[in-house]
Amino acid sequence: MVRISRDFVTDRFGRKQKAAAFCESGEEVVFETRDCYDDNDISEENPLGSRENAMENPATGPLFVKGAEVGDILRVEILDIRLREYGLMRTSPTCGAFHYLYSERTARRFFFEKHKETGKEGFWFDKNLWLDCDVMIGVIGTAPEGEDVLSVTPGKHGGNMDCTRIRKGSTLYFPVNVEGALLSLGDLHARMGDGEVMICGLETAGEVEVRVSVCKKGGKAAGDAVFDAFFDALPVCIDGNIISSIQAAETLDEAAVFAAGKMEALLAKAAGMDDVKAGMLMSLLGNLAVCQIVNPLKTVRCEFPLKVLEDRCGFERM
Ligand code: CA
Ligand code: CA
Repeated sequence: MVRISRDFVTDRFGRKQKAAAFCESGEEVVFETRDCYDDNDISEENPLGSRENAMENPATGPLFVKGAEVGDILRVEILDIRLREYGLMRTSPTCGAFHYLYSERTARRFFFEKHKETGKEGFWFDKNLWLDCDVMIGVIGTAPEGEDVLSVTPGKHGGNMDCTRIRKGSTLYFPVNVEGALLSLGDLHARMGDGEVMICGLETAGEVEVRVSVCKKGGKAAGDAVFDAFFDALPVCIDGNIISSIQAAETLDEAAVFAAGKMEALLAKAAGMDDVKAGMLMSLLGNLAVCQIVNPLKTVRCEFPLKVLEDRCGFERM
């Protein structure tokens, strides 16, 4: 199996990046990741870490997927996520919903263990409060269409979306904007609430096992119009019975309108509905959810029940 070492970390998504590894379409790949602090020895005693050149939200990669050509869609199935033994949280006096409460950076470390009764992986937040892990990937994406995008910023290529639905068992779809797609990922969270309100989740490092496949236009019965609407709705996440379009913008309001609009267009094309009917159905079954409010652009997802799209609207997943 292809394995990309945590030595291959980058602070950006870019078209000209040199590939860290190569794989075939349909192959399984393991990415070893650093935490969002670039594994910078952060601790309670040393909340700033020991390195000044540490990257923010670095991603491991990029992976060159053979056969991926501009205009294709890259499918990434999250097969497994394995964490190291602890996670870190840190306050910020300059960013996040509560920045005004803090005059300096403070860090806390939490060690993961198995709960004695439930057997579930989790951690003691304090001596009376146990929290289960609910592991997710913060940063994942392909090379963007234009200029390089820092790994701390989300966008049409994916990036720092910080979406709680990007987890083991979910399937992600990204645009292929350059030959090979150039997939990178990192920024694992042991758990995080929607919004990531303070500034971080329980930040950790580990390994992510994925299967990557190239989806070609015209390769599916759904037809080119649905492919185009799907491409326009990227990044898309399928998590259980929920399909989401995840959109980024300067404000939550804009991101919400983009995400809802992309899903409406996909529904209308897949079901052959006019915009009146598709709009009504979106308004009845579509759910907007905040991914995060703390990154350079905000991300919102619009969720829709996949079964309705498949069973009632004739949508075939790629
Ligand atoms: Ca993040
Ligand atoms: Ca993070």
